[in-house]
Amino acid sequence: MSKPKIVILGAGYGGMMATVRLTKELSIDDADITLVNKHNYHYQTTWLHEAAAGTIHHDRTRMLIKNVINTKRVNFVQDSVKTIDRENHKVLLKNGEIDYDYLVIALGFESNTFGIKGLEENAFAIRSVNTARKIREHIEYKFASYNSDPDAKDSDLTIIVGGAGLSGVEFLGELVDRIPELCKEYDIDPKKVRIVDVEGMPFVLPPFDRELANYAQEYLESKGVEFKLSTFIKEATSEGVKVQKKDSEELEEIQAGTVVWTGGVKANHIPAESGFETNRGKIQVTGDLRSPEDDHVFAIGDVAVVFPPNAERPYPPTAQIAIQEAENLAKNMKHILKGEATEDFVYKPKGTVASLGEKEAIGVVFDHKLTGKPAAAMKKVIDDRYLLMLGGVGLVLKKGKLKLL
Ligand code: FAD
Ligand code: NAD
Repeated sequence: MSKPKIVILGAGYGGMMATVRLTKELSIDDADITLVNKHNYHYQTTWLHEAAAGTIHHDRTRMLIKNVINTKRVNFVQDSVKTIDRENHKVLLKNGEIDYDYLVIALGFESNTFGIKGLEENAFAIRSVNTARKIREHIEYKFASYNSDPDAKDSDLTIIVGGAGLSGVEFLGELVDRIPELCKEYDIDPKKVRIVDVEGMPFVLPPFDRELANYAQEYLESKGVEFKLSTFIKEATSEGVKVQKKDSEELEEIQAGTVVWTGGVKANHIPAESGFETNRGKIQVTGDLRSPEDDHVFAIGDVAVVFPPNAERPYPPTAQIAIQEAENLAKNMKHILKGEATEDFVYKPKGTVASLGEKEAIGVVFDHKLTGKPAAAMKKVIDDRYLLMLGGVGLVLKKGKLKLL
């Protein structure tokens, strides 16, 4: 009898952890496992704000997939998923197709521009290694051109960040570390550089503890960041952005050489376009993380939505939940193949830490508030813990952060 075919789409946090855990939970005779990803590397999205600012090289955020998964057990296919043909249990790829008995959709997130005029064309988003590398190179080019290009303007040295959620604030933290280095390298007076964050809410980090959010804001302001709160980006142009203050009719134009949009994320478009019923683009999964329409299809990470018991708002899309969902999925796949009942997913939030550059951070870990160096150290512990879970001590020694302390 042929073995069931398990196909995992996407090698982000959810897909990689699902693959690694499945090879541990199942024996070689239990199932054939295939992982599909558009690149031959896995990247840690949670480090991309550093690569985007240039405080770390983008190669630090990524690793070859074949060096992490057991290639004797897993068939890795480097290709782009185009659509899922549920009726025929097939995934259509750019260069072929794959049959499945069980499908795990872990295709992650896309930037959400909410239809704001000009953002797609004129703003960058921190989404992948490629987009992060482009941001770093663009900012560096603007600084390199300032003293050599006769048409260069002071506003070329202005960087606008759209949104002060966790991604925006973490990126600002890296920028305030990086800009002094760039000024030194390209002989630029630091007073000429402006970093402006535009946030629609009246405060930074809307979902965060207020005391910690204020700490982050004050730290970033002490390093020169200007916050425009209760202000919305209405349009991005080749010259900068047009913003509007709440309750005002007027549009203000801010000229800038770089606009980075961190105003929100949405699920990968493929599940909705493949005909899955979605809640704002995400599959609202059953207790054991399956599509309610098809119990051969699982969804984990940012393409899935899970509500806490009796709550109106779902859990936010994070790497933390994607990893825990992957662990639950691997256990349940074993149960299913043995004909046993599955276990419902129970999320165990461990807290949130946001970096503010190399040596500063804020966070709540197991209900304890942290700021400054202890928080920065905790962030590195969290980053390294993921590497440990994924690839053991070897991966931590190769890619980990704690040795930099
Ligand atoms: P992803 O990690 O997005 O992985 C999806 C994978 O699918 C990628 O490898 C992608 O290349 C691949 N893929 C996509 N489309 C296709 C296709 N068509 N064909 C083939 N492959 C495809 N969360 C935290 O918990 N802690 C943090 O500190 C944190 N920091 C963050 C910092 C930033 C700057 C950002 C933007 C997000 C951060 N998050 C953090 C959120 C976290 O990154 C996401 O929730 C997490 O990446 C979701 O994991 P995932 O496995 O669902 O998808
Ligand atoms: P987000 O949706 O959390 O934040 C977006 C911010 O942009 C909000 O504050 C919103 O008010 C603002 N905004 C939206 N439209 C705007 C407009 N037109 N003008 C001005 N401001 C506007 O998005 P994110 O920060 O990218 O986070 C995405 C997910 O990743 C979240 O679930 C977050 O928890 C997670 N994340 C976690 C960490 C961490 O744990 N350290 C770091 C980064 C991201």
